[in-house]
Amino acid sequence: MIKFLDLQAINQQYAHELKQAAAEVIDSGWYLLGGRVKQFEANLASYCDTKHAIGVANGLDALRLILKAYIELGIMNEGDEVIVPANTYIASILAITDNRLKPVFVEPDINSFNLDITKIEKAITPKTKAIMVVHLYGQVCWSFDLENLAKKYNLKIIEDNAQAIGAIWNGKKTGSLGDAAGFSFYPGKNLGALGDSGAVTTNDETLADIIRALANYGSRIKYQNEFQGLNSRLDEIQAAFLDIKLKYIDQENQKRRWVANQYLSGINNREIQLPKISGDNSLVTVDHVWHLFVIKTSNRSKLHEYLNGKGIQTLIHYPIPPNKQNAYKEFANLELPITDEIHESVLSLPISSVITKDEIVKVIEVINQYA
Ligand SMILES: *Cc1c(COP(=O)(O)O)cnc(C)c1O
Repeated sequence: MIKFLDLQAINQQYAHELKQAAAEVIDSGWYLLGGRVKQFEANLASYCDTKHAIGVANGLDALRLILKAYIELGIMNEGDEVIVPANTYIASILAITDNRLKPVFVEPDINSFNLDITKIEKAITPKTKAIMVVHLYGQVCWSFDLENLAKKYNLKIIEDNAQAIGAIWNGKKTGSLGDAAGFSFYPGKNLGALGDSGAVTTNDETLADIIRALANYGSRIKYQNEFQGLNSRLDEIQAAFLDIKLKYIDQENQKRRWVANQYLSGINNREIQLPKISGDNSLVTVDHVWHLFVIKTSNRSKLHEYLNGKGIQTLIHYPIPPNKQNAYKEFANLELPITDEIHESVLSLPISSVITKDEIVKVIEVINQYA
């Protein structure tokens, strides 16, 4: 079986260093808010070229805390609107609704799967306070038009960078493009911890300060609570693991690009639509770190079963859009045909830093024989 993602093999590459770091944390007797978190935060900020990075418990919390901090700052209020792509992972939406803000779903571009920036302006109302862009599947969602729109309407841009650490737009890393960004280090992400964790990056010192307090019970000084915060801290042991894996993230992403290029040049079947990199014809490079390699096909279940029968594991990202989830019945009547089409036709092929050349060749061969 060619696994969709072999986490064991990915972490085996760094097992020696990871085990040594775990031993050091165990022996240190210090497990939260210590030197390893500080060091990882400094290295992540430097990697993304932002002034601040704050380690938190997971990617959902990273996004929740950014919005919560804007509410504490009086920049957003209950009922305000946040524009968000309709085809994102549920966490982007939960972060908004958990703060009693309203998600305004905007359709993605059918080819890039990313938020269609040309459709944002029509969705802006006097209540709009932010645009949450999601660098979906690892592809940067950004443009000068987006920057101009945010300036024109005085909107914050929040990056959901859970899937795209290391991607670059016009010389700048994701996580440094917007006003603030949320990262996930869920084990299956390009930079994966060995458990849950996440981070926020920003150049805004006031925001960083509040997020740091909010993530620690709303407290800056022990037993003094300035805000109604959360407990959302990054563990020392996960920070130690992440600091090791951060050294290799460019190498990991490079391998993913190589795999993607093999698929892009090798797969040739009229039943399959390959992913497109948007901005191919613009002056600015739109980078992709291939968190997922997502193809489209008209009869997905047939292809899925065919590949499974040939020993190739594929997954669907995602089978049901947020507005069709039982959790969000209030959005069930929205008409989002492009989002629907994407959710009905996408299939994710195996991609990772440990997939072998032989496995890639087999995937390509088997797909090209599909009819
Ligand atoms: C993984 C993911 C998140 C949430 O991250 P967790 O660490 O699982 O909480 C948010 N947004 C997107 C797009 C994701 O892929």
